[in-house]
Amino acid sequence: MPWNDKFECMPVEKLNKLQLKHLKKTVAWVCERVPFYRQRLEKIGITADDIKRTEDIAKLPFTVKNDLRDNYPFGLCAVPMEEVCRIHASSGTTGKPITGPYTIEDLNQWSECMARNLWSAGVRKEDIFQNAYGYGLFTGGLGFHQGANLIGCAVVPTSSGLTERQVMLMKDFGTTALCSTPSYALTIAEQAEAMKIDVRKLPVRVGVFGAEPWTVAMRKEIEERLGIKAMEAFGLTELCGPGVAFDCEAQDGLHINEDHFLAEIVDPATLEPLPIGEQGELVLTSLQRRAMPMLRYRTKDITRLRREKCVCGRTLIKMNKISGRSDDMLIISGVNVFPSQIESLLLDIEEVEPQYMLIVRKKGYLDHLIVKVESKKEVYDAGPQKRAEIENKIKGHIKSTMGVGVEVNLLEPKLLTRSEGKAKRVIDERPKS
Ligand SMILES: [Zn+2]
Repeated sequence: MPWNDKFECMPVEKLNKLQLKHLKKTVAWVCERVPFYRQRLEKIGITADDIKRTEDIAKLPFTVKNDLRDNYPFGLCAVPMEEVCRIHASSGTTGKPITGPYTIEDLNQWSECMARNLWSAGVRKEDIFQNAYGYGLFTGGLGFHQGANLIGCAVVPTSSGLTERQVMLMKDFGTTALCSTPSYALTIAEQAEAMKIDVRKLPVRVGVFGAEPWTVAMRKEIEERLGIKAMEAFGLTELCGPGVAFDCEAQDGLHINEDHFLAEIVDPATLEPLPIGEQGELVLTSLQRRAMPMLRYRTKDITRLRREKCVCGRTLIKMNKISGRSDDMLIISGVNVFPSQIESLLLDIEEVEPQYMLIVRKKGYLDHLIVKVESKKEVYDAGPQKRAEIENKIKGHIKSTMGVGVEVNLLEPKLLTRSEGKAKRVIDERPKS
């Protein structure tokens, strides 16, 4: 049974009408209150009255990350500061961060979206919920915290980091539900193994993971090592944080909270809308946000949408697991390569740990990809000949599946820095053009 069946199981036609109503309202709202949107819409002569069906969204211009940076910090804020009650921001590794102001109504809606996510993962009032997402400007910590509060479970706000303590509390408190980034879940698993604590024997039974792309193979690895069911959360700071889409018991695509977000898929090159079912870039429009609505935000995430009957009973459209970000795509000898593809191939190889790093360099005129991956201890200890054999095995596996030649370096176990939040897996050393 969903958290809110009125919206999660709404007949598609009714849902579409609701989206249209909210879309018109959002367009009118930003036209009235945000000069950036007003000028853009005036320029093309579109008003809220020109939106007669949801497909008319294609008439509106896109919003991109740079628009948010150019209007930093509050140029896109649609309400006076006295109505803002929280401000989050992205980590902003390059340039200015992305800011996210919320009204109290926005926060309540966000909690609702997160409660749907956690409820769908099986989190209930009786659970002890260890929240190992970073608390702070990052939306992960407080986003999950609010959703868990709404359900009414016992939240343990550990935040990320201090991994030894995470494991200790998990054991002592009898944590039953965990959330963190997928890479940090692995770090926790590894720490527990080092402390000789078998997490699979602890009461923890479910984890909700997100904030970085991860493959199905990585999900399996986490499920096996922690002895839990690993569910997914999807979202982005620009839209609200986590809570945009979530896994259900089918673990086969994420349901988008369509009463809050209108999703489209566009061709990343031509930006033309693509029909449901085709792969392309995910574009999201917020439908009920007040402080900072987004019109047609280009997420850069590559996926496809599916409108189908789901075993869970929800009618909300599904999106496939993100197969990569158009930003992260590498072009190696003319072949498009997503780091996630390499990840799932590495997880096929039983002699290595799921800890890796990709380095891209120029070798002459060609791009050269180096895959650094940690070996299992017994493989490393078996000596250089065994290591070379495994390196060749990985090289061959990548070549035969993806058609690209790469260099593989097998590393000593525990050599790479462990992630406490979003893992950095790609280092691009090519000169910037
Ligand atoms: Zn479902």
